[in-house]
Amino acid sequence: MKLTVLGYYGGYPDHGIGTSSYLLQSEGFNLLIDCGSGALLSLEEVLDPLKLDAVILSHYHYDHTADVGVLQYYWQLHPEGHKQAILPIYGHAEDQPQLDALNWAGATEAHAYSVNEVLNLGPFKIKLMRTQHPVPAFAMRIEEIQTGKVLAFTADTNYFDNLVEFSKNAELLLTDTNFFNDKTGQRWHLTAGESGYLAHQANVKQLLLTHLPQVGDLDTLVAQAKETAGSEINVAHVKLRQEIVI
Ligand SMILES: [Zn+2]
Ligand SMILES: [Zn+2]
Repeated sequence: MKLTVLGYYGGYPDHGIGTSSYLLQSEGFNLLIDCGSGALLSLEEVLDPLKLDAVILSHYHYDHTADVGVLQYYWQLHPEGHKQAILPIYGHAEDQPQLDALNWAGATEAHAYSVNEVLNLGPFKIKLMRTQHPVPAFAMRIEEIQTGKVLAFTADTNYFDNLVEFSKNAELLLTDTNFFNDKTGQRWHLTAGESGYLAHQANVKQLLLTHLPQVGDLDTLVAQAKETAGSEINVAHVKLRQEIVI
């Protein structure tokens, strides 16, 4: 499978780079994970948006959903050329108005996922786990069925132990690393050190830091994650439209 980073900031876009959004492709299936601010512009550079097979949203904070509306208009205003008639958008059902907003006549249809069920989406098997965040948010463990390879994505969360089992032995772990280690006070995101520690405990092969801060030196962020990840794990921060083959 191949992951393409469409946006990686937390909170708001900055200097032409958008917020959380990733394209995951396997066997011709195109899954959009989160659809933050700037996602559609970035997606247009790498894939005709009408060729999407599905969208899945980790939660309904705007830095993960801001471009859902314009994606819906895009599908509505291009009645020809859809890979399928209606684009399914998967989200949780704990905020009914937000879930309902994923429906758009002639364009998209809302589907609820649940932590109690494995979601089968094309070539992927997706497990979800509730994270610790001010609103309901869900980490994803995405397995490519044919190869058994796993991409784990923490979504937005502070650190808690269940993240380790959930991410276990993933080929690639994407972590919400919005903070440097010196962050004090309430944290609803991981620090770089916590991301590295999680990667080490979960025995993943590769750690990519995302949901990045707009201010601060990203080399320092990576160095802080490497300290706790250990030397066996490849640690980097994501880059715009970076392609990662898993
Ligand atoms: Zn966020
Ligand atoms: Zn959030």
